[in-house]
Amino acid sequence: MKNNDCIFCKIANGEIPSTTLYEDDAFRVILDMGPATRGHALLLPKEHYADLFELDDETASKVLIRAKRIALRMKNALGADGFNLVQNNGEAAGQTVFHFHMHLIPRYQDDHAGILWKPGTVTPEEMEQIKELVDGQ
Ligand code: AMP
Ligand code: ZN
Repeated sequence: MKNNDCIFCKIANGEIPSTTLYEDDAFRVILDMGPATRGHALLLPKEHYADLFELDDETASKVLIRAKRIALRMKNALGADGFNLVQNNGEAAGQTVFHFHMHLIPRYQDDHAGILWKPGTVTPEEMEQIKELVDGQ
């Protein structure tokens, strides 16, 4: 289903033009307009899913296969030294557009893109408590 108020529905379905790196029946890959690095792209399903939790399993599995293939092509074409796949869900996690998308971010030695986090600390007791909470679901 498409969502009339959703900009990524319009981009994915070609109603708003974009620089498209790949397109098939189910997905479009576009260049991000505020790139973290050279070549930063977004994989968009053509159907509307607000986030990861709305994806059906079949689409979810296709997302990773498609991301892998495009990432490999981009890495070779752009001479990237590494690659991040980033996928935000919810405002607290940095999601700003509420149509599922996977960020495809080529990385270059010393690009200072700042995508990684600062490691925190956790006690063995906290780890055990987390494990029990998740196991209980
Ligand atoms: P997120 O914060 O994970 O929701 O990511 C949204 C991404 O979409 C950001 O990296 C934006 O730069 C990008 N973005 C938003 N609007 C557009 C647009 N019209 N065309 C291309 N990229 C966009
Ligand atoms: Zn949408």
